[in-house]
Amino acid sequence: MADIIQLLTDNIANQIAAGEVIQRPASAVKELLENAVDAGATEIKLIVNDAGKALLQVIDNGKGMSETDARMAFERHATSKIRDIEDLFRIKTMGFRGEALASIAAVAQVEMKTRRAEDELGTYIEIENSVVKKQEPCSAATGTNICMKNLFFNVPARRNFLKSNAAEMRHIVDEFIRVAMSFPGIFFSLTSNGQQVFHLEAGTLKQRIIQILGNQYAAKLVTVKEDTDYMIISGFVGKPETARKTRGDQYFFVNNRFIKSAYLNHAVMSAFEDMIAKDSFPAYVLFIDLDPSQVDINVHPTKQEIKFEDEKIVYAFVQAAVKHALAQFSIAPSLDFSLNADIQSLDAVSKPFTSDQQEATSGSSLYKTFTQKNQAHAIDPNEKSELKHWKEFFTTSEKGNVRSETEQRYPATSTSGGVFSYERSQTQHPASGIQILDASFLQIHNTYIIAPTNKGFIVVHQQLAHERVLYDKYAETAFGKQMPTQKSLFPITFELATADAVLLEDLMPELAVIGFQIEEFGTNTFVIQGTPADVLQGNEKHSIELLLEQFKHFSSDMKFSKREKVVRCMARQQSIKAGQQLQQKEMYALVEELFQCSTPNVTPTGSPTYLEFKEDYLDRMFGK
Ligand code: ADP
Ligand code: MG
Repeated sequence: MADIIQLLTDNIANQIAAGEVIQRPASAVKELLENAVDAGATEIKLIVNDAGKALLQVIDNGKGMSETDARMAFERHATSKIRDIEDLFRIKTMGFRGEALASIAAVAQVEMKTRRAEDELGTYIEIENSVVKKQEPCSAATGTNICMKNLFFNVPARRNFLKSNAAEMRHIVDEFIRVAMSFPGIFFSLTSNGQQVFHLEAGTLKQRIIQILGNQYAAKLVTVKEDTDYMIISGFVGKPETARKTRGDQYFFVNNRFIKSAYLNHAVMSAFEDMIAKDSFPAYVLFIDLDPSQVDINVHPTKQEIKFEDEKIVYAFVQAAVKHALAQFSIAPSLDFSLNADIQSLDAVSKPFTSDQQEATSGSSLYKTFTQKNQAHAIDPNEKSELKHWKEFFTTSEKGNVRSETEQRYPATSTSGGVFSYERSQTQHPASGIQILDASFLQIHNTYIIAPTNKGFIVVHQQLAHERVLYDKYAETAFGKQMPTQKSLFPITFELATADAVLLEDLMPELAVIGFQIEEFGTNTFVIQGTPADVLQGNEKHSIELLLEQFKHFSSDMKFSKREKVVRCMARQQSIKAGQQLQQKEMYALVEELFQCSTPNVTPTGSPTYLEFKEDYLDRMFGK
């Protein structure tokens, strides 16, 4: 038998390694922007065509590269940022693994022009499939101008894996915003297919936040700033009145790197407790700086998770700093800085700092809060994963104006033609074998409907039942059945923040199928021409905003397709809520429709929609 093990060629090895760093155009955006920042640029321009699939270009005015470095930069593990292992613990730059350019060169056609200020001529270099095709002197502006063309041209499997342009663009905008937000002193622009999407003049962090998140935050930002020996927190939180139904405007940066942390998010949310509605989200842009040795920086470059040496103390600092900020601006009702025993016993809290350190930090109000005794910072040890919130998220019972809403939904006069048209019948419902009797229904606590059946009675949860009904209706559209659309009497225009606008564009095809007629109407502005027949007129804009919020909230749930998520969100969103009073007619219609569904007994997420009480069971209960 011949030996069978072979070494992979460099090219294939490179392509495989590249897959870890460059998964989609947005990953290249992150790497190239970070390289420009590391190069000390004060102006960084990003240009994309076809959401970066055709072209992705970053032009900076940073320090540029020498002829040799221009070539070296594309070698794997070629970096100017660390020299020995010790450097890893002092790392201040965004990149350091020396993998990004090598990875990009393995999976795209790259052209780069670069010149250092001290050189008369710059270098032009062309690389494809990790192979240098051309390198020659050229005239060039100071800095680096790098183009990545036809991403994954040589890895068709990966290219096919890319999402629609709208979806990829959304990822690009996210990455762009994260970098631009953390370096307000640098000018950034983003041009997509010849249209300028962002033009961010250098300025203060506050100005940058307003440039990116929108004018509604002008005069509505509260400064957060606490310096301690252990860590520094700075940035802004939105005043409680700016809290939105969308959780988009929340950014954490640790040592200037964007991170996602449900744990730290919880710290901020708890500081806002009782100041904002339960289902709304405060905006925040917070920077945490601490000794790199206290953070696990050796995480994978594309990961946004972070490991702190001491997670609890970071939580307590963040929470206290935000509370303090809100209190200083007399927004918090009372200043209750309190420490619980867990935190009290942490080394960082209980052991005194050295006298030098103490000097330096004792002036800080935050430090003082940590030395107060016997007080309790509530840390919820059972921080739940985001997905577990599916339920709470939607159960907003809209108590006000309930009557008119249900009347619109089930107009008393409509017995035919309407979406909920219904003639009472006594037919057996095949899926359940249940036969509803022609008798009055009873609504209890404006939530449960009691309906007599030939064998006993059922108790229907009105919201869950309606969710099932709507889900089935929307889901049918997946098989080509067009959802009836009602034309808006007065087309509604609305404007979104850029990131939301990009998301909406991405969801437009799915929304069209379920009956939303939305058109783009200039930059970030949309007009709603029609809605699914059961969306209330006058409620269209809210309904879209809610959908975007819910979609963002669950977009990490990979189990479901985009279509499925949209359908689930809409079904929840539009369902009659618990707490709404229903008329007989409405109850009949709902129950009838429920039993037309193929699985009437559960919601799409598996909650029961009704409970059945059979006569023989009742008899037994009464000992008969
Ligand atoms: P890393 O950033 O981890 O060092 P990269 O592959 O991203 O690795 O870049 C390799 C090297 O190329 C960098 O260390 C830097 O010296 C140089 N380089 C990359 N991009 C630029 C740029 N825009 N301007 C100047 N030098 C750059
Ligand atoms: Mg880099």
